[in-house]
Amino acid sequence: MSHSSVVPPRSRLVTRREALRRGSLFLGGAILGGALLPRLFAQPPAQDEPSYPSVDAPDHPIAKGRLSMANGKISVTRVTENHVMISGIGGNIGAFVGEDSVLVVDCGSGLPPATEGLRKTLKELSDKPVRYVVNTHWHYDHTDGNANLRGLGATLVAHNAVRTRLSSAHAIPFFNATFSAAPREALPTITFDHELELDLGSEQVRLVHVPLAHTDGDAYVLWPKSNVLQTGDLLFSGSYPFIDGSCGGSLEGMIVAEEHLLTVVKPDTRIIPGHGPVSTRADLIASLEMLRTVRDRIAKLRAAGKSAEQAVAAKPLADLDAKWGQGFLNTDNFIRLVYSL
Ligand SMILES: [Zn+2]
Repeated sequence: MSHSSVVPPRSRLVTRREALRRGSLFLGGAILGGALLPRLFAQPPAQDEPSYPSVDAPDHPIAKGRLSMANGKISVTRVTENHVMISGIGGNIGAFVGEDSVLVVDCGSGLPPATEGLRKTLKELSDKPVRYVVNTHWHYDHTDGNANLRGLGATLVAHNAVRTRLSSAHAIPFFNATFSAAPREALPTITFDHELELDLGSEQVRLVHVPLAHTDGDAYVLWPKSNVLQTGDLLFSGSYPFIDGSCGGSLEGMIVAEEHLLTVVKPDTRIIPGHGPVSTRADLIASLEMLRTVRDRIAKLRAAGKSAEQAVAAKPLADLDAKWGQGFLNTDNFIRLVYSL
């Protein structure tokens, strides 16, 4: 990736003050964990050459979040007879036992003890080999375990933008963070543009790309026969979603993506979301309605010339807070995120 693609566009640059505010807020987040003000903010980006601190520094909040992710408690929820959701070590992981092999979708932490825990959980699920690992998008809480599962002999499969993002350093200004390139063994080796089908013997599993929603490389995974959908972060069930504007994600894109997902689910489809419990079509509809409400209310504030902080102060989502604002992003931070997109 060229230098210019690592550096965000001018309009997305954050001031040191904003970075401080965001950093301190994110430190309290459920995923990043911890409650320490990072020293990294003491080094503001140079004016003409903005850069964001590396998440490889042990005191970066994302480094701390990765450690806490690695020490999460694994829990297993049965989705169908041959399909489970594994949670607790990052984004939700789906594991499907096919005729002669296992398909894993997303893989959470790449650090022990989560890596050993995931291997053990998969072994308990089936003695068949893990043949494929699909990444629904490039974010670390869904891909950090790639090399671990590749070590079991799995082939890594993803949309081609996932490979592109993982192959190079990438900054996410909203997190005040630069992610370094992933090692070779963590990169997807089979990539696709629009859609790919994997034959698991007992079922043809569909991987379908949705453009510019949560990121630029989102794909959902559909099991038409057993009636299961895994959305990746196109659905945060029961909480406000993070949307990655640093690689083309947008609120409107999320709305279009969830409208599309509604066309592929049936009333009784079981949905494995990126975050949150195993869900239903009704949960997807509730998320979509929430996103539309947020879009309309924030658009009014923007049209009235309000700044992000004025919008936060106006409390436009007060009635949504109890239901949606208790997850990774609280209501105020979600308003700031939407304003930053
Ligand atoms: Zn994500």
